[in-house]
Amino acid sequence: MCDLVSHALRAGLDRRAALAGLLGGTAALTVGAATPAAAATPAAAAGQAAPEQAAPDLPPRQSGSDHHTRLVLLGTSGGPAWWPGTTRQGIASALVVGDRYYVIDAGYGVGPQLRRAKLGTWDDVDGGPLNQLRAIFLTHLHSDHIVDLNNLLTEGLANGLPQVDRPVQIWGPGDRGALPPRFGPPPTPPVTAPDNPTPGTADMVGLLIRAFATDINDRVFDNRRPVPSAVYSAHDVPLPAHLVADPNGNPHPRMSPVPFYEDDRVRVSATLVQHAPAFPALAFRFDTDDGSVVFSGDTSPSPNLVELARDADILVHEVMDREWLEGFIPEPRDDAAEALFQHILTAHTVVEDVGPIADEAGVPTLVLTHLAPGNWPEHKWRRAQRHYSGKLIVGRDLDVVGVGTRKRT
Ligand SMILES: [Zn+2]
Repeated sequence: MCDLVSHALRAGLDRRAALAGLLGGTAALTVGAATPAAAATPAAAAGQAAPEQAAPDLPPRQSGSDHHTRLVLLGTSGGPAWWPGTTRQGIASALVVGDRYYVIDAGYGVGPQLRRAKLGTWDDVDGGPLNQLRAIFLTHLHSDHIVDLNNLLTEGLANGLPQVDRPVQIWGPGDRGALPPRFGPPPTPPVTAPDNPTPGTADMVGLLIRAFATDINDRVFDNRRPVPSAVYSAHDVPLPAHLVADPNGNPHPRMSPVPFYEDDRVRVSATLVQHAPAFPALAFRFDTDDGSVVFSGDTSPSPNLVELARDADILVHEVMDREWLEGFIPEPRDDAAEALFQHILTAHTVVEDVGPIADEAGVPTLVLTHLAPGNWPEHKWRRAQRHYSGKLIVGRDLDVVGVGTRKRT
């Protein structure tokens, strides 16, 4: 991929712009005036569905609401773009096991969505919904996956966090260990926070606490809220050192899943997926007494993910529409535009590829989420069914999908 990118730059890509903003930071260039791709339509250039393609959001499916263990889609939008014409919230999901639940990624809107999903003591203004939250798992540290983590940790103090029966455990990737390679010609851009330019999850939460110290101290001293260490603690997912030694040379080493979290309801394992230069980029598997659910995070097709998802009950997978990307970088594409096109494809999974991944893993239910673009009509995502033998669910915010057969008591 890096060779392609370098070639693209030599061939004429000449300025930074917003495509990365639409997809989460992976592709950091747009095509300069020297390339034919600059002729992308205005709607595509703005990351919008054309008006005839926009469709109203559909009501959530609630058929799994009576299950003891259930998947809840809190937000299904892909990328940090605030897509026009949709109410889809940023990427976030919950796995509910009995009267406790776990959050996977914390995109924009996750807090209010927990209340709308009626999790925890949702109808008590001060007492919920976070009172039944056990842990938060972050697949990677792109902003679209973490931007409202701070909301959970700070405004959470007024939404049930003080009532948790044990500190909420926050797990996510560790320090990248090195800056990503410079994408584009010199000069090298200045480094933000050069003393700690790629903090991992534990570090990041510590920095958030410091950044919000004025608010936290006010609420602790004036409102007698609990101190952060009493209600949450953060950790880096431990991965074998040899797998994380070369984030720029080998960001997607082949590996088998690593178990790293267990309590009386779930056992959680992680694997590295392919979302370079984001690193470590993780997928998670949750094993419960009622079944297993796997979350892909952001990735292109990954053999590590197939192994992680083997014989799980549900695979929750990101997806991008190649047609949308082709509208953004239309043909004819010169070398530079083609390289950019391929660069984006290597970080995400297109509609045609997502079903075969689930089939290869032997997973009977595939749930599409992190939809990019977030305002595409549902029938476009349903094309994934042509390449998948199981049950396809095109995710909608607040969908509830049952896991196993046991019902709530
Ligand atoms: Zn993302």
